[in-house]
Amino acid sequence: MSPSPHVAVTIDLRRVRRNAVDIRRRTGVPLIAVVKADAYGLGAARVAAAIADIADGFFVFTLSEVIDAGLAGFGKPTIVVQAASRDPEDYRSIGAHPAVWSADTADALRRAAPVLSVDTGQQRFGTPIDDIATIDAILRAGDIRQAYTHATKPEQAAAFVHALRGRVPTIHAAGTALLDDPASRLDAVRPGLALYQGSVTTTSRLVEVTDTRGPAGYSGFSARRHGVILAGYSHGLRAGPCRVNGRESRILEVGMQSAFVECAAGDRVGDEVELLGANIAENEIAAAWGTGPQEVLVRMTGMGVRTWRE
Ligand SMILES: *Cc1c(COP(=O)(O)O)cnc(C)c1O
Repeated sequence: MSPSPHVAVTIDLRRVRRNAVDIRRRTGVPLIAVVKADAYGLGAARVAAAIADIADGFFVFTLSEVIDAGLAGFGKPTIVVQAASRDPEDYRSIGAHPAVWSADTADALRRAAPVLSVDTGQQRFGTPIDDIATIDAILRAGDIRQAYTHATKPEQAAAFVHALRGRVPTIHAAGTALLDDPASRLDAVRPGLALYQGSVTTTSRLVEVTDTRGPAGYSGFSARRHGVILAGYSHGLRAGPCRVNGRESRILEVGMQSAFVECAAGDRVGDEVELLGANIAENEIAAAWGTGPQEVLVRMTGMGVRTWRE
């Protein structure tokens, strides 16, 4: 997927900041900000700078993400899922802590203060919750002080608490899905999506507008009037809701580098088409696409040229 020069992506960092403050206040526990995948496309360096004084730590997938976003500069610990290096110095030098789920890796990375990852249902990147002997062996091998699980259901967080509470001082489980479940908040929350929702506006402009004459496009869609934007599936777009001149409309059909948009009588070339923004939420698009709001954010931020509002 490549960005279209004809799509504008505006990232409201004040909104990201407000989201962070709100999460912090709502949950009452430390906030570990998930800024993996370039902060879901919003720009990890920009997002981290905007919330550095609110977040208590960061969470990414790879070591290079820590370096690329300059996370070491904020003086907060960063958890890294993929312990690709076995040299603890590679983590220590940038304030990073590798996630571990084997005694062998925990032992090798002991001096980097590794974090135990426990599997409560995802069946990846974690040690199974039901094998306490192995969990204890990993905790000992790495002298581990912190553990997390990627829970999406309250029962998973509860099983995690039952097994880990008392074994390790700091435990956390909740991403966005469990923020509003007080029992799952534990010693910190670890959201990504909830930090970013509502902060991205993705727009394009009509480059052609015409009254529709019979079946049109590849699919032979029918409409009274349609327009064209220069964003297609090669930029990550799919058919779904949109707004034309602020009015509710829809993407009728998506091609490789352009898409058809349903238009009304007054719509003209140059008029704005909103693909994501104040009036079209991530969840609404996700429902139309049959996917989750995280994928919508990554596609919508990657669709065009990004600019940031401080
Ligand atoms: C991505 C991720 C999160 C954040 O998930 P959201 O649903 O976007 O809040 C939390 N924890 C782990 C382990 C993750 O990989």
